[in-house]
Amino acid sequence: MLSSRRFSLLVILITLVTAAAPNPLPNNTSPPYNLSTPLIIDTFTNPQHNALGFWHGGLEGLTMEYGHNYVHLYPKDPDHNYNTQLSPATCFNLLPYRTTHYLHVHFNGSTKFSVSLSQNNVHCDSFRSPFPETWDSVEASRYARGNDIYIPLWHFYVDHSRAVSVSFNGFYSSEPVTLHRVEIVSASSVPRGFPVPPRVDNGRVLLRCSRPGAFAFGIDDGQPRFAQDVMQILEEEQVLVTFFVVGMGLRDLETNFSNVYGEMLRRGHQVALHSDTHRKLEGLESVEAIDQEIVENIKSFRQILGIETRYFRPPYGTLGARTRQRLANYIKDPQIINWSVDIEDWLWADSKTPEKQREAFVRDVTRGGNLAVMHFLSPTTVHLFREVIRFVKSMNATIMRIDQCLEDPQSPPLKLPQS
Ligand SMILES: [Zn+2]
Repeated sequence: MLSSRRFSLLVILITLVTAAAPNPLPNNTSPPYNLSTPLIIDTFTNPQHNALGFWHGGLEGLTMEYGHNYVHLYPKDPDHNYNTQLSPATCFNLLPYRTTHYLHVHFNGSTKFSVSLSQNNVHCDSFRSPFPETWDSVEASRYARGNDIYIPLWHFYVDHSRAVSVSFNGFYSSEPVTLHRVEIVSASSVPRGFPVPPRVDNGRVLLRCSRPGAFAFGIDDGQPRFAQDVMQILEEEQVLVTFFVVGMGLRDLETNFSNVYGEMLRRGHQVALHSDTHRKLEGLESVEAIDQEIVENIKSFRQILGIETRYFRPPYGTLGARTRQRLANYIKDPQIINWSVDIEDWLWADSKTPEKQREAFVRDVTRGGNLAVMHFLSPTTVHLFREVIRFVKSMNATIMRIDQCLEDPQSPPLKLPQS
């Protein structure tokens, strides 16, 4: 169901280029910073690396074409992503630039995409999970005039001391985009009268639990016939989890999901939003279509389960500026939950090697991941569920709901098993 192997792929690519590239890091990127000269990130002169000497390239199958000082992008999917690294997968300190500088993009073509700034994990290590830890995105169309985009760096709500890359993603049109230049410039370089819009509120994207020693399972779409097995395992293992539930499934009487999730709520589990019909929201052409996916999901929760929640997981993990902004429009301070542990059931569950799910899970936990994504769509995943719960327990982690693992003051108090 989930398409996202992007982060592990990113680690491999960055590592390859970091090993191969010379180190032409200009002097103005190490302290003391020279804030008056532009920090040139990318001029697309070399298909292998950017102007800083670090990896740039497409992810998730994005078609590209490099020319003399440009790259053409031919997006077909909101998950397509063009990344240009600020650091060799470590941390780049943008704090000195944060309040005074702008991200400038010189480009051509469509503006139907997002521009994102990613933040590394606290270890500044691309081999730890999550990588990146989070990111913020703005709509290119709001910041573009002619062939230029100027975004105040402070519009990106990330920890600027741990910046790791600039990326172009969340495409909602297949019109091509050409990038010519990506740089960070001082306010005095922004053309006089260039209209810079106010920042639009959006939700924070979380891939990990903040509570020390916590671990959370975020369980998405399921097959009704496995619901009882899942419930029984949770009961016997005495753990609470978070279910992300689609509105349409809840309304469909045949699934019995209204009873299943009603019962899950009574047992203390968290039930959270997962859109109405499980499409890639950011890929929808109109804002009205995105709104409908959010509003109908909220309505079904209210009418069928009698609950309100500010927790949301985007179908397929697909996100962009518009989805985040529309969520923030309907939900105060939305908590947008992706993951740092992927059991990869979407890849292995129905393959000849379903045990790869165990490997994927253990790999991500070993790298420091503590917030999982999984589904109960396949018997092989359900079969492994108890084992991975026990594996987490054996690592001395405490399994809890996502709101609890994020130390949400509104979450129910932890009931720790008596020892
Ligand atoms: Zn899903």
